[in-house]
Amino acid sequence: MEGVLVTGTAQADLEGECARCLEDLHDDIVADFQELFVYDGSEAGEDEASRLEGDLLDLEPLLRDAVVLSLPFQPLCRDDCPGLCIECGARLADDPGHQHEEPIDPRWAALQGLTEETEEATGRKPGLIEE
Ligand SMILES: [Zn+2]
Ligand SMILES: [Zn+2]
Repeated sequence: MEGVLVTGTAQADLEGECARCLEDLHDDIVADFQELFVYDGSEAGEDEASRLEGDLLDLEPLLRDAVVLSLPFQPLCRDDCPGLCIECGARLADDPGHQHEEPIDPRWAALQGLTEETEEATGRKPGLIEE
């Protein structure tokens, strides 16, 4: 096939957020591309072939495809990002020792709320008799 073979490397800034912890991330990506642009008016069989427009060629679709293909499927702030705490949403990478006390049995959770309310209203813990 007659044409111009274009080979190149594109560099782009990647801005996004970590798929696990939603931290903003910035990265560089490098994408290699290669494409044959057939001469304008040549009888190349495929309609989808990239074509020269006179002496010019349009790199944009080629660049876009190359960059999109090199984007990470799940961008991560670091490979071993531990993500977010499922209890409270804290970012675990900032707080490696992060943990919670035993989760409260959902059947008692309502009572816990009551306890806190009582404490707020009376300044003392319910069930505690002060001498
Ligand atoms: Zn992360
Ligand atoms: Zn937590």
